[in-house]
This record gives sequence, C-alpha cells and structure tokens, in this order.
Amino acid sequence: VGFWPIQADLELLDGETVSITAKVPPTRLWRYKAGQYVFVQVPTLSRFQWHPFTVSTCTGNKMQVHIKADGDWTNALRDLASSDSGKKIRIGLDGPYGAPAQRFYDSEYSLVFGAGIGVTPFSGILTDLQYHELERTRSNESTTSSPYKDHRRVDFHWMVRDRNNLLWFSDLLNKVSQDQTEDKSQLDIRIQTYVTQKRKDISTHVFRWLLEKHRTKENAQSPITGLINSTHFGRPDLGPLMEQHYEDMCKVLAERARTKQEKGEEQDDDDEIHVGVFFCGPPVIGLQLADRCQALTRRGRHEGRKVEYFFMLEVFG
Ligand code: FAD
Repeated sequence: VGFWPIQADLELLDGETVSITAKVPPTRLWRYKAGQYVFVQVPTLSRFQWHPFTVSTCTGNKMQVHIKADGDWTNALRDLASSDSGKKIRIGLDGPYGAPAQRFYDSEYSLVFGAGIGVTPFSGILTDLQYHELERTRSNESTTSSPYKDHRRVDFHWMVRDRNNLLWFSDLLNKVSQDQTEDKSQLDIRIQTYVTQKRKDISTHVFRWLLEKHRTKENAQSPITGLINSTHFGRPDLGPLMEQHYEDMCKVLAERARTKQEKGEEQDDDDEIHVGVFFCGPPVIGLQLADRCQALTRRGRHEGRKVEYFFMLEVFG
C-alpha cells in the first residue's frame, strides 16, 4: 500500500548512516511482520525515486529505517541530514513487503547473522520479540496465537567494522541483555557482537581487554562499546561457533528423550530440531554459512541425530 505524504524525523547517526522515524499508517493498512521492508520516497531529493529499506524497528505506532550512504540518493539523504539533523521531512512510504527474515518464527531455534547495515532485518525481529511477544507472555495473555512453542532460543550475531556502528542499536541490545538476566521466561536470546576493524597495536588490544574486564554489576556496560553483552574484536569463527550450536542441539534432543523416558512416554522417532539460519550482508560470508549449514545437517544424518540447519540469505542490492 502506498502512503504519501507522511511526516518523519530524519536523524544523522554517524558520518555515513541516517535514520528515518515515521508514524505507521493504521493497522488495517499496515500489516507488518518483522523482517519486512518498505519503499521510501523523499520528494525533496527526488519525486521519482523509491528506495527499499528494511524496517529496523517497529514499536507501537512508530517505525524506523536505518540507511547507510551507498550511492547518489542515499548520499544526498545523508547530506540533507548533516545540514540539519533532527529535521522533520516529508516522505512517501510503500509497503511493507515480504522478505526472507519473516520466516524467523518458523523455527524455535535460530541463528541470525547481520553484517553492518545488514542487521536491520534482525533488529526488527529482536524488537518484535522484545516488545510484542515478551509483553504478551508477561501479561499472561493467551499465547495460543503466539509463534512460541514452549521454548525459543535465538543466537544473534552482529559484525560491524567500526565499534561506533554498535550505537545504532545499543539501546535495543542493552534492553534485551538486561531482560535476559532478569527474566525467567522461555525466551533465550544470546547476543554476540564483533568489531572487525583491524587492531592498531598490541597496547590497544591490552587496553581494550583490561577495560572489558573492568565491569561491575552496577556498571554492566562495556566502557568501549556501551553494550552489556561482550564484544569480540575480530571476525566470528564460524566453524567452532556452529559446531557448538550443533552440540547444544544434540543435548536438547537427548534431554527430550530422557524426559519422555522418565515420564514413561513412548519415544518419538519424529522428534527433530529445525534450526533457521538467517544471514544478511555480503554474499561471501553467506556462502560460508550455507556450506556449514549443509555440513552440519549431513553430520546430523550421519550420526542419527535429527538436527537440520536451514539457511536463508538476504543481500541488499
Ligand atoms: P545507487 O546510486 O543506486 O548505488 C548503489 C550501489 O551501486 C553503490 O555501491 C554504488 O557504488 C554502486 N553503483 C552505482 N552505479 C554503478 C555503476 N554504474 N557501476 C558499478 N557500481 C555502481 N540499505 C540500507 O542502508 N538499509 C536497509 O535497511 C536496506 N534494506 C534493503 C532492503 C532491500 C529488500 C533491498 C533490496 C535493499 C536494501 N537496502 C538497504 C539497500 C538500499 O536500498 C540501497 O543502498 C539504496 O537503494 C541505494 O540507492 P542509491 O541511489 O543511494 O545508490
């Protein structure tokens, strides 16, 4: 559905990123599912160009997109934001439209990997989990229509070049981390962030390490990243990371079998785990992940464990 014009806030987040925040259209027209994208038009820049952007957060009656300057139109938008950040603009909005990440709720175990601005489908999902599902479970509303089964585990991995990029979603990530430590609900979200920019020298490395270690309960946030979750410096080591996940899934299957045995229930040969693996970013990382998913699924079959890894890729552009 196309909407125009809508009042929106344009904000400069850093040298190459801006956010647009707008009030969403009425729910009967705005049938949004986390992970979806919209087309945005900014008439001040061009009346004819509509560009696709994933909804990075949507809570209540507000939606947001995060936009990285990458070409003519996005650079012009960045320039518009730098000339007057916090400015009100008029935009056209068309959507929302379906995208791979909206399959997220199909599996109770998922691994999501976002690279740079490719985190937006997953920030949308985290927001959805955090603000909608968790609120519903807490308020003891009926969860019959909820996508939850009895448990949901999400391993969230976000790689950025520059640690300042983590600020785009630091409030959201910290809220999730905070709730994870306090909450006893069935939602298990594990956040890992990675700063991939090369370290300058060994002393910087030691300094960072010392700062990361000096956290207290009262000051849980890292002095380097501002995040509660710990940040790795360097790329994620996908091999061991996914192997560990597979081992965990095998333990879950074994635990389920044990519980059934204890209850005297019949062993169910159909008991299996489907893990949704979602990636958004450069295809070169996506290919590595796809290979690992295939290898682990094969390993599961070989070892007689029904653990299957389904891979879904989204590339902007
Ligand atoms: P363009 O001028 O179109 O350039 C885009 C890229 O192509 C640049 O890297 C540019 O260098 C290159 N290019 C242009 N012309 C040439 C040429 N002749 N030869 C070689 N290379 C060239 N982006 C976000 O920041 N956030 C999001 O959440 C997001 N979500 C998206 C969701 C979807 C479904 C899709 C399809 C894209 C999404 N994008 C997102 C990407 C975003 O839509 C584009 O970055 C934006 O439309 C680029 O427009 P532009 O005019 O600024 O760039």
